[in-house]
Amino acid sequence: MFINGEWIIPTDENSFWSYDPATGKRIAKVVDGGAQDAEKAIASATEAFPIWSQTTAYRRAEILKDAQGTVMERAGEMANLMSREQGKPLKAALNEVRYAADFLGWFSEEAKRNYGCTIPSARADQRFMTVKAAVGVVAAITPWNYPVSMITRKIAPALAAGCTVVLKPAEATPLCAIAMFEAMSDAGVPKGVINLVTAQDPAPIGEVFVNDPRVSKITFTGSTRVGRYLASAAGQTMKRISLELGGHAPFIVFPDADPVHAAKGAGLVKFLNTGQACISPNRMFVHESIYQPFIETLSERTQKLKAGSGLEQGVSIGPLVNEAAVEKVEAQVKDAISQGAAVVCGGHRLTEEAFTNGSFFAPTVLSNVTPEMEIYREETFGPVAAVIPFSDKDDIFAMANDTHYGLAAYVYTKSLSRSYEAMEKLRFGIIGINDINPTSAAAPFGGLNDSGLGREGGIEGLEEYLETKTVGLSLV
Ligand code: NAD
Repeated sequence: MFINGEWIIPTDENSFWSYDPATGKRIAKVVDGGAQDAEKAIASATEAFPIWSQTTAYRRAEILKDAQGTVMERAGEMANLMSREQGKPLKAALNEVRYAADFLGWFSEEAKRNYGCTIPSARADQRFMTVKAAVGVVAAITPWNYPVSMITRKIAPALAAGCTVVLKPAEATPLCAIAMFEAMSDAGVPKGVINLVTAQDPAPIGEVFVNDPRVSKITFTGSTRVGRYLASAAGQTMKRISLELGGHAPFIVFPDADPVHAAKGAGLVKFLNTGQACISPNRMFVHESIYQPFIETLSERTQKLKAGSGLEQGVSIGPLVNEAAVEKVEAQVKDAISQGAAVVCGGHRLTEEAFTNGSFFAPTVLSNVTPEMEIYREETFGPVAAVIPFSDKDDIFAMANDTHYGLAAYVYTKSLSRSYEAMEKLRFGIIGINDINPTSAAAPFGGLNDSGLGREGGIEGLEEYLETKTVGLSLV
């Protein structure tokens, strides 16, 4: 843990292990923090706030820029650690470190563009203006699936705005969080401005975060279930809240699209991070006229994917985070098969010797998925592509919108009119049109409905950490 600029070292009495999900082997011990540690961290962030929020935006920008540089200098070692602790292939881990560094770079620049405005008044002797102020102490909770970029997506805009932070990382990936905090601290982030509380049991820390009056804002990325709890509990002390939650992305392939090109895109985005991404497509709606070539290409490519430890050459399917995740995927696949879905490839756990100590599921393509199946409604968070044919008679946008989530949606079409229709009719926060990577530090990211509140990244990302004060001034 890192509180008030000091590292707290794990002891035998007060620690838990971080594991490699590909082998089940222990990697290192981490401090098991509790409610008291969260309170100490909040005290440290509270003490640091007046000075940090008064530090010039130019100086804050310089520190963030230096942090970006330090993270990039350590990209190789951070990616290696991430492959071990989280399981993603080394190349994907390197991409994630770059993405994490991008947030530090983008918000170092945005720190200097924290503008208020002047507003005309109806009274001749009155002037209006708005000024922006840092929200205060921010409590951040991050997930394991993107264990470094989810940290900087919160910390970089918070620091740019002048806020101080206490962060609790996921219990499955504390070492990645430690590496990121080391980089930021070594780059010159002053003591108390960022604090890290690692813990095996998140509940007591979460309780302190939502109840402590010194915390002004909660920012959370994770499941809708936990997000809903944090939002309702934080309402008691009226904290600002940002939530990046689950998703159930449709992936629509219109008849004018090239089915082979679309299937390649579908395979790349579906199996990224072994399907453990909130923007992973969960329902692939493919027009019946191009259904066969789409399925054939997707299945051919899926069967070529090599599973294994992220550190092995040529591996593109890493382990799932734990046994519970494998069981959830297995249950969804069994439910779909029992209701008539066909397994085109995969459909089972990987049980060969190389996989026995890890949590692996074969990359899978299911065809003829229908709305009654659980996989049609609930997030899979695993390597299963569920494909659904549609015809001209179907209202495809209504089918795509038939979910309580609203994070990402994908559309393949060559028609400009269809693209506009998709932008206007799809009720999702992020829409990729012939594009499987509609994300960037410069673009807002976030969802509607059960996918959350607020946006991260882009200009909107900074606003989440700012209050607007209105000033009315009478000329005397
Ligand atoms: P999770 O909600 O179980 O855990 C996320 C974080 O919340 C972890 O740090 C965990 O320790 C913490 N947590 C759990 N219970 C808590 C409590 N009572 N109080 C305080 N903190 C608590 O989710 P997960 O299974 O780790 O992550 C997967 C989910 O996250 C998926 O639903 C996925 O879609 C979502 N996700 C969303 C985004 C996004 O940007 N929208 C990004 C990544 C993941």
